[in-house]
Formats: sequence, C-alpha cells, structure tokens
Amino acid sequence: MTTFQSAHRTFKNYFVLPIAFLLFGISCSTDATTLLDEDDSISEDVEETNDDTPSDEEVDTSGAVVFDQDFTLDATRTVANYVLSQADYAQFLAGDGDITMVAEKAYEYLDDDFDYIIILSVEETQPSGLFYGRSHLIQNQVQGLGTGVYNNAASYGSAGKLKSIIYMPRTEYISNGPFLHEIAHSWGNKGIIPSTVGGHWGFASTAGQLGGFDQIEDLGNNTYRGSLNGQNGFGTFANGGNSVVYGALELYTMGLIGPDELGSIQVAVNPEWTQNAGEFTADAITTYTAQDLINEHGVRVPSVSDSQKDFKALTVVISTAEISQEQIDTISANLENFSRQGAPDGSWGSLKNFWLATQGKATFDFTVAQESIQ
Ligand SMILES: [Zn+2]
Repeated sequence: MTTFQSAHRTFKNYFVLPIAFLLFGISCSTDATTLLDEDDSISEDVEETNDDTPSDEEVDTSGAVVFDQDFTLDATRTVANYVLSQADYAQFLAGDGDITMVAEKAYEYLDDDFDYIIILSVEETQPSGLFYGRSHLIQNQVQGLGTGVYNNAASYGSAGKLKSIIYMPRTEYISNGPFLHEIAHSWGNKGIIPSTVGGHWGFASTAGQLGGFDQIEDLGNNTYRGSLNGQNGFGTFANGGNSVVYGALELYTMGLIGPDELGSIQVAVNPEWTQNAGEFTADAITTYTAQDLINEHGVRVPSVSDSQKDFKALTVVISTAEISQEQIDTISANLENFSRQGAPDGSWGSLKNFWLATQGKATFDFTVAQESIQ
C-alpha cells in the first residue's frame, strides 16, 4: 500500500468533532429523505384466517398455502405472512425482534433451502428511533474478506444453508432501499479495508451501497473533498438507498468480479468531516491495490469463477393481523421487480434492483418451490 502524507496539518480545531457528529446526523437524515415516502393506502380490512388443515396443501401445487392459522404463503409463493402477538410485533419495532422465532417457524414447514430470510414489518411510516434495516449474519464461509469463517445456522433451525436474516420495518424498503445495502453486509465491511464507520466503507473511494466517494480532490492543508456521481458529498455508510449500484469493492467481496477488475481503493486516515459538503480532513490518503488487499487478507475463496451467484430468499411479512390481498400484491410485485433479470418496471423510477446493482452478474430468487414445502 502507498500512503501520501500532505504537508502540515493545520485544521485541528476543537469544534471539528461535534461538527463531525452533526454531519453524521445530517448524513443519516439525508439518507432517510432519499427513501421515497410512498402512500400505499394500506387497507385496514383483514380476512379471518381459514382453519384449513395442513393436509390440504399437499394436493394443490399452486395457489396459497395455509401452514398454520398464523403462518401462510401467498398464491405467488413469494410472500409468507406470520401473524404475531402485539408484544412480539412491538419488539421488532423496538429493534429487538425475535428473529430466531421467525426462522424456527419457517423451518417447521419449509426445508433448509434459503440463503436469506427477509423479515418485513408493515409499518406505514418509519418508526422513530429505529434503524431502516439490519443484517444479522448467520455464517461466513468466504475467505479473504478480513474475517474468519463461522456458521451459527443451527441456532436458527437451519441445517447449514442460512447465511443472513435481514429485518426491515417497512415493506417499501424492498424497492426504496436499504435492501441492496443490507444484502451487501453479507460480505462487507468485515475489515478488508480500514474504516472509522463500523461495518461500512467510511471515507474511501468505494462509491457503493456501503458508502464512499468516486472522486477525491486534494484541497491542501490535509483537507479533501469527496464527490459521487459528479456531486459534492457522499455517505460514509450509505449513498441513498436503492438509487445506487454496488461499487467495485462490493462486487469483489461478493465474488462477482476478480481482483483484476478491482481498481485501487483510496482510504482516508483519521478522517473527520468539516462543515462543507463532502469535505473532510485526514492525516493521509492510503491507496490499496487489489494485490495489497490479497497480501493482507489472502485471495477470495471461493474465487469469482466458483463463487455463489444465485441466491434464494424467503420473505416473511410479520403483522398483528393477516395482511390484505392488496398488500400481498404490492409486496409480491416489488419482490418480482427486485429479482427480475432485467430493469425493474416504471413504478421503480430510477431505483436499482439486484440485477442492475450487480451488472447482471447475480440473481435473487424469492419463490418458494413446491419441493421446499415439507
Ligand atoms: Zn449498514
């Protein structure tokens, strides 16, 4: 790696730290406002659950499946609905939902065929004080990312396939984000580059879902300005929901491009925001080539030729009463848009799906196959 030190650091003022926190807060809310605030006019009408016996599901290989009074799968076989008690549901909104309970419920009726379980609650607005999404990593089998291999799948009722459980409080976050962001957390940032923003890229030329700029300008006096897509400013942990595609380092950690396609990554040392958009001070800018990353963490195993490219997910919508057909239709359409091998339809505007975000290199499949049903 190469480290360039600018001359003398003259910008070390006592107010830099509080301003950094202030800007971090602004950055958070900027991310928040880029999430579209759609009015889905969610119906309050709910149908009573049928008391169908589980044996009925064996006959029909299409159509909705009633596994249990409180656990169903819709006719498109993409949207499971788990009706929770008020207390269990509220715990999710408090940021402490029982994801193990949801996973174990799913594995009572479904085989261990899913890389991801996506849990969505049905909030019409973002709950105050709650995160927009959270990835609970269950295992890592990939070497070369800056972290070890481990597998806690058994604790969630999975025989070994489950990689991550993602929770997002609103179903709209499938299309608006942070869905692409939460998926990227399966691989980054586990320490492959240093960062002052835990789990994310921070002040680096990563230009992706987990933050970073694509251009950096040296303004002198240890001051720099990062920009993204031609505009001053960037996020250190996100860059505006599903409006941006995965950056090169994200594609590399995901196993979708090789080291030969990964350019050098610039990382700021001890960065701190100034009060100007995209502007920060740093002791130095360190450049890591792909070879530097390999020297430090080893090659990615499996390599781009052997890596998993096709991912299966089970989507479980949690609610306190059975969700309406209108809600199911909207969620199912968004899952179809997210997973289609092509651009999403016009309802997504300029938002990116998995195919666009990965340059068509990987797929996500939300359909529960008949063979997966026990
Ligand atoms: Zn994150």
